[in-house]
Amino acid sequence: MAQSHRHACLMLLLLAASLLHGADLKKKTEALATLEKHHTELIKLSDQIWAYAETALKETRSSKALADYAEQQGFKVERGVAGMPTAFIASFGSDRPIIGVLGEYDALPGISQKVQPTKEAFEAGAAGHGCGHNLFGPASLGAAIAIKELMTSGKLKGTIRFYGTPAEESVGGKIYMAREGLFNDLDVCLAWHPDEKTRADTQSSQAMVDFIVEFKGKAAHAAYDPWNGRSAVDGLELFTHGLNMLREHVRPSVRMHYTIVKGGDVPNVISEYAKLWCWVRDSKRTGVEEALGRVRQIAEGAGLMAGVEAKLTIQTGDYEMLVNLTGAKLLHENLTWLGPIQYTAEEQNFARAIQRATGVEEKGLNGAIQPLEEQKPDPPGGSTDVADVSWVVPTLHFSVTTSPEGAPWHAWPVVACGGMSIGHKGIMHAAKTLAATMVDLFENEKTRSAIRSEFEAQTKGHVYKPYVPEGPPPLPME
Ligand SMILES: [Zn+2]
Repeated sequence: MAQSHRHACLMLLLLAASLLHGADLKKKTEALATLEKHHTELIKLSDQIWAYAETALKETRSSKALADYAEQQGFKVERGVAGMPTAFIASFGSDRPIIGVLGEYDALPGISQKVQPTKEAFEAGAAGHGCGHNLFGPASLGAAIAIKELMTSGKLKGTIRFYGTPAEESVGGKIYMAREGLFNDLDVCLAWHPDEKTRADTQSSQAMVDFIVEFKGKAAHAAYDPWNGRSAVDGLELFTHGLNMLREHVRPSVRMHYTIVKGGDVPNVISEYAKLWCWVRDSKRTGVEEALGRVRQIAEGAGLMAGVEAKLTIQTGDYEMLVNLTGAKLLHENLTWLGPIQYTAEEQNFARAIQRATGVEEKGLNGAIQPLEEQKPDPPGGSTDVADVSWVVPTLHFSVTTSPEGAPWHAWPVVACGGMSIGHKGIMHAAKTLAATMVDLFENEKTRSAIRSEFEAQTKGHVYKPYVPEGPPPLPME
């Protein structure tokens, strides 16, 4: 082929690519304008959810606020899905492609905090948004609304779905929704999370299993006839001893932690009942299964030694996150296109005051877009139920700065920042990134199929097996 002809072909190709990109850019810009139009309402929603601070499966007002807003915006809303009153799906449009976006809204108990850079409860003993989930739902729903408006004006075709997913901090609402098959027909699913940095996530998360170990013995007077008793607390102590010895014989990536829920009543009664709550984590589900097998034997052995009955019950568990690199690149492109989050001197001072109060380096807020990282073999510590979704459909995940670098997470600094402009900027940045990336996903069949092929290669031959027990999760008391 003549050099000039090849050159002409290449030019045509480039032109076609840039024209397509140009059309997409216009749609993205329109989506951003829609988000600006809804700015006040989205912030109001977030502040409402921040103040409600409802914990797992009790997010009645929070989920209602989001579902009602989706309905007002013309979405078809299905409430109480997968047997959970606070789970819902809001959808708009018809046919394929179907793109989903996740939103969480549960708070954490006992970490209520005022919007100020020193520790002081907003309401003593109450819950607080220490994981920034008050920002999560409104940003994701905002992005879905921006896509809906492009559909209404005939610029995008397909279906957009917002998933209201409760109880991330406890049983993992998404696992129940995944088991019901509620994500199965999605082409792609997107999620983000508040963080101290802004980046497309290329690291996985830890797989884990959450279980209860109970011991049932026989009561007797501890001084008069202890030989007639069988102590449940003996069983518990032998179990924790065995578990702590097991630490030497598991891979360094394994984490095991427990709390004693019930350890007898009074010293002068041989305890009839003891209960322990335990989590085992590893980089992959296979590692968790291996460690869990050993833990089961330890529970059984402890029961035998103490002459009591031992029972292990799985409550829930997460897979490790499947990272879709094609998707991560797409997210990174859109994050880069939007540019870093800019903070005022006042916001930086607020962040530095928090860093001073928590004894970490006074670096302030980091709104820069982090470079795309190589995937490491072991993820950093932490698990999420988004990971279960990632084994059912290709899932793209990113993080947005909403809190000062180095300050503790699941703690008061996150609550404080989530109730003011630092968190609000995070909402808008996340919503814009989601909306821009979704424009690409709706518009480019090639991108969707590249994401799908990567997912299919990763999950080939795998059958999704959620850890959760039969039926819907039990609702908390009160
Ligand atoms: Zn979280």
